[in-house]
Amino acid sequence: MIGVTNFLPPGPDLCLVNHYLELARSAYVEYADYLWRDIANPRWSSYFYVLIFVSVVFFLLEVVRPWRKQQAILRKDFFLDLFYMFFNFFLFSLLVYNAASMVVVESINDGIRTITGGFDLQASNPLQHWPLWAVLLTGFVVRDFIQWWIHRLLHRVDFLWKFHQVHHSVREMGFAAHLRFHWMEIVVYRSIEYLPLALLGIGLYDFFIIHLFGLAWGHYNHANFRLPHWVSGGIVGALTGLAIGSGSFDIDLLARTGPWTTIAGGALGFATGAAVLRPLMPYLFNSPEMHLWHHARHLPEDRRYGANFGLTLSVWDYLFGTDYVPEKSGTIALGFPGVESFPSGFIQQELVGFASNDRKGNAGSGDRSAAASISDRSSRVPATSSENS
Ligand SMILES: [Zn+2]
Ligand SMILES: [Zn+2]
Repeated sequence: MIGVTNFLPPGPDLCLVNHYLELARSAYVEYADYLWRDIANPRWSSYFYVLIFVSVVFFLLEVVRPWRKQQAILRKDFFLDLFYMFFNFFLFSLLVYNAASMVVVESINDGIRTITGGFDLQASNPLQHWPLWAVLLTGFVVRDFIQWWIHRLLHRVDFLWKFHQVHHSVREMGFAAHLRFHWMEIVVYRSIEYLPLALLGIGLYDFFIIHLFGLAWGHYNHANFRLPHWVSGGIVGALTGLAIGSGSFDIDLLARTGPWTTIAGGALGFATGAAVLRPLMPYLFNSPEMHLWHHARHLPEDRRYGANFGLTLSVWDYLFGTDYVPEKSGTIALGFPGVESFPSGFIQQELVGFASNDRKGNAGSGDRSAAASISDRSSRVPATSSENS
């Protein structure tokens, strides 16, 4: 495209195209630079090391205190999922956001300025003057809500469901299964969630913090490990207390902050969260018990397009009536009808949805006609150990 434009006389439109291309190019160069610095400098704010740290924590928790004790520590497809983890979240995810962030925001801003004769949307965004904690909280809730709808769409639209089947091909659940998904999911999620977030003024740094919290909670949802609600409530409380006690994210509730206020804030936050959030946690936040049913192979007829679509928050499922947790033994069969014939290798899975023989290859999976749903998805068959392995 750049080559073609070189042969044409420069006009205002081409200048604009070149301007956006240059913006995209510099965003990618900047991001490649960021990735390299991220790996080369181990620190707490490094995405690469946070991903490793969170994964190691959940791996150890699965070893020390497994929920399904009969499940092997190195469960089926453990190493496939580890590979997915780095491929999807490290190489791909933020890269697209960063490039889109600079190009789309500026082009929309330019467009609005032209149409309205000078109105600057970004400059008049009220969030620009909000403290960071309010921006992060708003971004987190808005993003989670949008993602809930996107997830529903992935289950409801047949051609999207084919991509999403990669995530649902997990037969034994563990933390790393969180990141087993088709690369097209990144395209779908980022392109739909991007615009509202960018227009809200959520920058790359804010997105990064929200993303890390979602990463940790997503690992938890998939882990072969579960916490009592008073502990998960306590952790949410402790994180809030630590932020208040240290004065992070523009929180200025305390006149003076330091190590002791941070420790006291964390401890007080944990105690408060454990007491206050305990009864509310199942209705506010997603959990391994709830998400396991999202992966159930068999669902009743009225849930044939899925249940429990929440990513971090569960509140949307309760508000819109898509919640479904009939029991919490953890021994249900996972996958979808026909999962046995679903591709099992990384390359083949990444090509799912594009291959010409998809229809017969994914027998039963995309075929969610009324007849199929009654015969396959409506029977709530209890798992046998062989089905679950
Ligand atoms: Zn799903
Ligand atoms: Zn999942």
